[in-house]
Amino acid sequence: PSAEDSVGGSWTVTIDNLRKEFKVIGGVEVAVDDINFEIGENEFVSLVGPSGCGKTTTLRCVAGLETPTSGRILFGNRDVSDVPANKRNLAMMFQNIALYPHMTIKDNIAYPLKVRGVVKAERYDEAKKAAEIMQIPDMLEKYPGELSGGQRQRAALARTIVQDPSAFLMDEPLSDLDAKLKVEVRKEIQRVHKRVKNPTLYVTHDQEEAMTMSDRIAVMNDGRIEQIGTPEEMYSKPKNMFVAQFIGNPSMNFLDAEYDSSTHTVDMAAGDERVRLSVNLDREPGSDDVVVGVRPEAVSLLPDGQGDFSGRLQLVERIGDRILSTVDGPTHDGEIRATVSADHDLEEGEIVGMELNRDRLYFFDAGTGDAVG
Ligand code: ATP
Repeated sequence: PSAEDSVGGSWTVTIDNLRKEFKVIGGVEVAVDDINFEIGENEFVSLVGPSGCGKTTTLRCVAGLETPTSGRILFGNRDVSDVPANKRNLAMMFQNIALYPHMTIKDNIAYPLKVRGVVKAERYDEAKKAAEIMQIPDMLEKYPGELSGGQRQRAALARTIVQDPSAFLMDEPLSDLDAKLKVEVRKEIQRVHKRVKNPTLYVTHDQEEAMTMSDRIAVMNDGRIEQIGTPEEMYSKPKNMFVAQFIGNPSMNFLDAEYDSSTHTVDMAAGDERVRLSVNLDREPGSDDVVVGVRPEAVSLLPDGQGDFSGRLQLVERIGDRILSTVDGPTHDGEIRATVSADHDLEEGEIVGMELNRDRLYFFDAGTGDAVG
């Protein structure tokens, strides 16, 4: 049972034409602008993008911690723009886990129910259930200071479970955890989401985290959404070079090229070598500067003298059953990243041939960076 004037139940969350400016010395800083998307009732949506692109500001507007300069936040059909943060019934998780240090884990987990006036026996019951889901039932009588970082995160997650919130808002909740714990807590968050099924907005700068957890991902850049879609769409159909380089790890290789619409060919200059591809791009008649994009997974390494061009192997990193290799190449950043299977016999310093998988190339307008098909 929630307070009469608070927002209960689980709803679609709509961010409608959101704009947020901050007053700064000498004018205003537009933190986000023209933000439009929905988080479905059971959906997990991530906001990703480089530092300062507006992820946290967007989340804080949904939370009610910032007042939009213009635009609306809706839960279902209800405009909650004027509903204060503490009446939105949201569960929030941030990088710094705010457990009350003087309370036991049990009291911490049960706290949202105490605020609602639920009687002690019932709220402890709920706390126990949530602790079991999060696999920390033995921690209930302990204090936050006695728990590891991962256990504290689990306790914080358990607290959000008992709250039965209208939506989950998480801002980089894993960034303080070591690599192993990160994977663990990531799984826990997904488990909670599958179980509780509330709309979730998740902020991270880590595209891999977003790719593994989300139903949909919004890539932000400079206060705007560049593209929103499923992880598969973002990976296979990036709208522009920004999204293409942001999604996927290691990131996409870009090579300058020229498209000739009369011969339907793309010419890439690679030092003394030239690589000509037959493709049909939707371009104005004449020749045009384009950028060819190729993911590391679509570059094959061959013996010197074979393939499209050759280069010196700079770096070989073995990661599980794959090798991440970096070869000198005619790309924007002077190197070609190639991910190949671990059975390759590679030695740093040797000259290798590289072949680009013709079926897996992307083409972009060199001026705008937009994908061309
Ligand atoms: P990060 O990943 O570094 O946390 P972010 O994508 O979450 O970044 P925001 O924190 O939303 O980005 O910031 C977006 C822009 O708004 C930045 O340029 C930031 O400097 C500015 N900004 C954010 N909060 C304020 C504020 N209170 N006053 C002035 N400018 C702000």
